[in-house]
Amino acid sequence: MPDCIFCKIGAKEIQAMVVYEDPDILAFRDINPQAPVHILIIPKKHFDSVNALSAEDNTLAGRLVLAGRQIAHQEKLADRGYRLVLNIGADGGQSVAHLHMHLLGGRTLKWPPG
Ligand code: AMP
Repeated sequence: MPDCIFCKIGAKEIQAMVVYEDPDILAFRDINPQAPVHILIIPKKHFDSVNALSAEDNTLAGRLVLAGRQIAHQEKLADRGYRLVLNIGADGGQSVAHLHMHLLGGRTLKWPPG
C-alpha cells in the first residue's frame, strides 16, 4: 500500500526502533509510548486490520502472537506480565490502517481499558 506508514516501516523506507524481525514480521517501539515498554508488532504484508485476515492467514496470525511472547521475554516482562492488544476499526481505537498488535508492559495496566 503506497501511502501506508507501517508498510514503509516494514520495507525500511521509514526508520523505526526495531526490536524484532523475521521474514514476515517486524516489531518496533511505539513513537508515543503509553507504558514503559510499548512495542508494535506488524506483518510486513499489508492488511487493513484483523478484519482483512482470512483462514489461510492462520499461521501468520499465530506467529504475531508468538513474536509478542518472544519480545516480552526479551524485554524481561514475561514474569511480571504484559498485554497484547489489537485495536480494530473506529470503535476499537485503530488509528493506523495496517494490522498491528501492541505489546504493553512495565507498569500495572488498568482494566477495563477506556
Ligand atoms: P492504533 O491506535 O491501535 O492504530 O495504534 C497506532 C500506533 O501507532 C499508536 O500507538 C501510534 O503512537 C503508533 N505510531 C504511529 N506512527 C508511528 C511511527 N512512525 N513509529 C512508531 N509508532 C507509530
